[in-house]
Amino acid sequence: MIITQKKPIEELMAMIGDAANIAILGCNSCATACATGGEKEIKELSAYLEAHGKKVVATAIGDYCCMNMSTKSCMKKLAAANPDAVVCMSCGDGVQVAAKHINVPVYPSNNTMFLGEALRLGVFEEACHLCGNCVLGKTGGICPISRCAKSLVNGPCGGQKNGKCEVNPENDCAWIMIYNRLEALGQLDKLAQTRDDKGYADVSYPRTINIRGKK
Ligand code: SF4
Ligand code: SF4
Repeated sequence: MIITQKKPIEELMAMIGDAANIAILGCNSCATACATGGEKEIKELSAYLEAHGKKVVATAIGDYCCMNMSTKSCMKKLAAANPDAVVCMSCGDGVQVAAKHINVPVYPSNNTMFLGEALRLGVFEEACHLCGNCVLGKTGGICPISRCAKSLVNGPCGGQKNGKCEVNPENDCAWIMIYNRLEALGQLDKLAQTRDDKGYADVSYPRTINIRGKK
């Protein structure tokens, strides 16, 4: 899932500026799980804005703000209330989708942090950098791009100490984890194979994928 964190409220208020009538769009998926854009957070933000001289003219929550069709219908509802600005409580993707469907500014209430795993309620761990050429099959299912501080595909770097990363000793060294996992799987031979260095061809932005064969 996409992990988001709330921006400081002062930063959001500065973006909103003089806009008086505000609409709010929440997101029922990742942002709800992150407690940054669900029903509860919409209510909290509405109350804050109302207490600070703004009028919340409409709210809506999309199943997935990143999906054009569902966001389009939410934005139609918000636009009917003639807001001066919209606050979108999703990831940055949802904000961009929302902004396509209304002619007033759409402001993000969240910072988009990473693609990761919800370990437990409220605890998230970065897991994937969307590198475009997944090597998990060679690394025991542990991502060296996101879990190694240097994103080494042929680690370890030699700096690990007692299994911990030299960059941040609070983190386990990804390559020690990979070694242990491959050993447990009986696949240590994979460590002897050299993995190709990561190039930038797979991550030249912006990327578009079309599996329909037509627009
Ligand atoms: S190698 Fe890591 S960063 Fe690349 S796609 Fe796989 S999990 Fe994501
Ligand atoms: S100590 Fe391990 S995780 Fe840290 S940078 Fe080196 S190889 Fe990567």
